[in-house]
Amino acid sequence: MEQTLVILKPSAVERGLMGEIIARIEKRGLIICGMKMMQLDEKILREHYAHLVDRPFFPSIVKSMTASPVVVMCLKGIDVVEVFRKMTGVTNGRQAEPGTLRGDFCVSNQANIVHASDSPENAVIELARFFAPGEIFDYTPANIRFLYSDDELKA
Ligand code: ADP
Repeated sequence: MEQTLVILKPSAVERGLMGEIIARIEKRGLIICGMKMMQLDEKILREHYAHLVDRPFFPSIVKSMTASPVVVMCLKGIDVVEVFRKMTGVTNGRQAEPGTLRGDFCVSNQANIVHASDSPENAVIELARFFAPGEIFDYTPANIRFLYSDDELKA
């Protein structure tokens, strides 16, 4: 089953939104199979946001992403990358649709509370960047048959 990386950014940690976001993930039926708190630094952010390193606002991203510890999570589910990107909403919280995490809980283009991998290929790379082997638990929850049909589980 597909996996994706989620980061609860300092804008979620500092504002006391971790529980609310995790509750929505659980209620949706996405399986949390890895979760830990960690302090990011510029080195890992240069890798993680390599596509933005040359942008003028990159130092500001580093400042905001290192302002407090973050929570990194591995979520599992069928098409979970797409499912969680839709739950996240567009980058700018002011433009994010109500009902999405960003649309309900933030109003910033930068302090936008969550990171979500944007493709299954990037999810694999990002999970290896933030989790050591053994920190992701590939278990099957007992309620799996009530999350998906038998046909979906077989596919
Ligand atoms: P997303 O997080 O929606 O996948 P990007 O990969 O484009 O978006 O950007 C990564 C992060 O960099 C964003 O979530 C946001 O925190 C920050 N960021 C993106 N664009 C800007 C910008 N123009 N000004 C400030 N911060 C930005």
